[in-house]
Amino acid sequence: MLRTVEITAELTSPPRSEQSHNLHWQRTLQLSLDCFICGRTGRTTRFEHGEEHAVCTGDRSAEHPAAARIAGFDVTSGRDRLMLRTVVDYWWAPFHDAKRDRPAQALTRAPWVRLPLGYHCPRSQRTGSFSIQSNVVRPVSEACAHCADPLATDTRSPGIRLLP
Ligand SMILES: [Zn+2]
Ligand SMILES: [Zn+2]
Repeated sequence: MLRTVEITAELTSPPRSEQSHNLHWQRTLQLSLDCFICGRTGRTTRFEHGEEHAVCTGDRSAEHPAAARIAGFDVTSGRDRLMLRTVVDYWWAPFHDAKRDRPAQALTRAPWVRLPLGYHCPRSQRTGSFSIQSNVVRPVSEACAHCADPLATDTRSPGIRLLP
């Protein structure tokens, strides 16, 4: 059945007048899903906005296309905030993970997401990137890898929820 997951994230950034690095969400993400093709739970699945399918990274040696895609990608920025709401559609079917001996869930048991961001350093004229993800100790402060200017503070784990 078709399922939809909403992912929300928010970063605090220096006021825009001081923020000259063009910090932005990249249109790609990784999300853990229970994959009926592998028959395994908690598979890291790689998404690119605009692609008609995602990729289950499986055991690395066994990547395969996944019936999943980014259906919505909405970026908003406030004076000192950078926010993202993205919606992922995927085809889910029940199965039993024989290796972990547990049933699959429409939203995997402990969902995990990674959201990459990019920036451009005006002093060095070079680009850089970092990502935020579930399951890290917060707050995390990110600085430019080239000039050490503060870029953002990550105070809150991304929200992941199955839409009804
Ligand atoms: Zn798979
Ligand atoms: Zn810089």
